[in-house]
Amino acid sequence: MKQVIIIGGGISGLCSAYYLVKEGYQVSIIDKNDFTKGASFINAGYIVPSHFISMAAPGMITKGLKWMFNSSSPFYIKPRLDTEFFKWALHFKRAATAQKVERSIPVLKDLNLKSRELYEEMLSSTDFPFHYANDGLLMAYNSSEGEEEELKIAERAVAEGLEADKLSNLELRRLQPAFSKNIIGAIHYKCDSHTTPQHFMASLKTWLEEKGVAFYLQQEVRKIHTFQGKIISVETQDRTFEADEFVLAAGSWTSSLAYSLGLNIPIQGGKGYSTNVYRPLDVSIPAILVEAKVAVTPMDGFTRFAGTMEFSGNNTFIRKNRVEAIAKAVNTYYPEIKLSEEEKAAAVSGLRPVSPDGLPFIGRSGLYKNLTLGAGHGMMGWSLGPITGKLITQTISQKKALDHMQALNPDRFHLIRKQDGLKNTSS
Ligand SMILES: Cc1cc2nc3c(=O)[nH]c(=O)nc-3n(C[C@H](O)[C@H](O)[C@H](O)COP(=O)(O)OP(=O)(O)OC[C@H]3O[C@@H](n4cnc5c(N)ncnc54)[C@H](O)[C@@H]3O)c2cc1C
Repeated sequence: MKQVIIIGGGISGLCSAYYLVKEGYQVSIIDKNDFTKGASFINAGYIVPSHFISMAAPGMITKGLKWMFNSSSPFYIKPRLDTEFFKWALHFKRAATAQKVERSIPVLKDLNLKSRELYEEMLSSTDFPFHYANDGLLMAYNSSEGEEEELKIAERAVAEGLEADKLSNLELRRLQPAFSKNIIGAIHYKCDSHTTPQHFMASLKTWLEEKGVAFYLQQEVRKIHTFQGKIISVETQDRTFEADEFVLAAGSWTSSLAYSLGLNIPIQGGKGYSTNVYRPLDVSIPAILVEAKVAVTPMDGFTRFAGTMEFSGNNTFIRKNRVEAIAKAVNTYYPEIKLSEEEKAAAVSGLRPVSPDGLPFIGRSGLYKNLTLGAGHGMMGWSLGPITGKLITQTISQKKALDHMQALNPDRFHLIRKQDGLKNTSS
């Protein structure tokens, strides 16, 4: 039986393990954390075919510059001297053209639709139980600019075959009475679904363990040993692991591990925050509060409020003013909902692994015969978890994958070194 080691036990790593096990591989997962924190546990849980426009879109640079020095704005870049960030930002700028966004639309739409189908297939397989709801997603706006922008996207969504209904304030409040009378309206994307991430993660882990998957937690991969274009082993603080195949699914930390292998996988951690409210709230349909970019999700037993995109390096530091901004937005859109001091103090953070062109890196690098990557999903990593796992498994087992694999090619930002120069670089 072929052995596969997966570096990273987030949603990308776990879904890869799920499909690899089904194909008969012996899988081990190594993660530096304890399986309780990080983006895959604290996210808003949306599965979003409606999110077919990449973050690297025209207009984002101007918005980013406007918000750059305001640490309570929905999008924040901490001013700092970081050459990797500057290089990433340059790639982002190059990707933020109408033509490139247009090219990525069918890729993101198809990947999200396929992934939603795979979530539903997992659910009906009854392999492991998890919460999954099909209530759609409301994009609620309270400004004419927000309305204009959302209407354009909705029109395009309909042209792409997705179900999107425009709701007036009255129609919105008929569906969700907790919304303010001052909100202009919303687009209801009936194509979207949602889950409860940490419950899904725990349930899938139990299934994987029952199928013989070994979890090595609090083990940080610090070195990757290579020989003649192959990964031989990975080394953590405690031991060395050997395998036939390796999957690098280390989220926002993928770049540095890849760099040690001579690969250029530009990913920046985009920090987001979330907090859970366990008292009953009158929210039954997930919503994004458009102007504030806050996500509200009724999960299994609680409501989660999530938001902000902060580029300040790979850290989990909580900026209180950003949590306050989330609470304030919630209260503006839902006047009866006021987050308590305890609920705000319980906010946690996670890093979205953001690629410069809004597309993940999935597939083999040309440099190594037995290395497959699955990282850089940004704001859609939860939604794209199952399709990522499926594509990684198809790559390893050399089965025909989706047509879009070229767009996801991990080598698309060029390699750092030529293969000849790689020998012993990381051992
Ligand atoms: C507030 C917030 C809300 C979000 N909402 C949504 C949403 O509604 N829908 C959606 O689709 N996406 C959402 N996202 C994004 C989504 O959560 C991420 O894209 C996704 O979780 C990334 O999963 P991943 O497995 O690729 O990476 P991660 O979850 O980051 O997992 C990578 C793992 O690798 C481990 N690791 C890293 N380096 C090493 C090493 N050297 N050795 C061992 N282990 C290592 C880490 O500990 C980590 O557990 C949200 C994110 C945030 C922060």
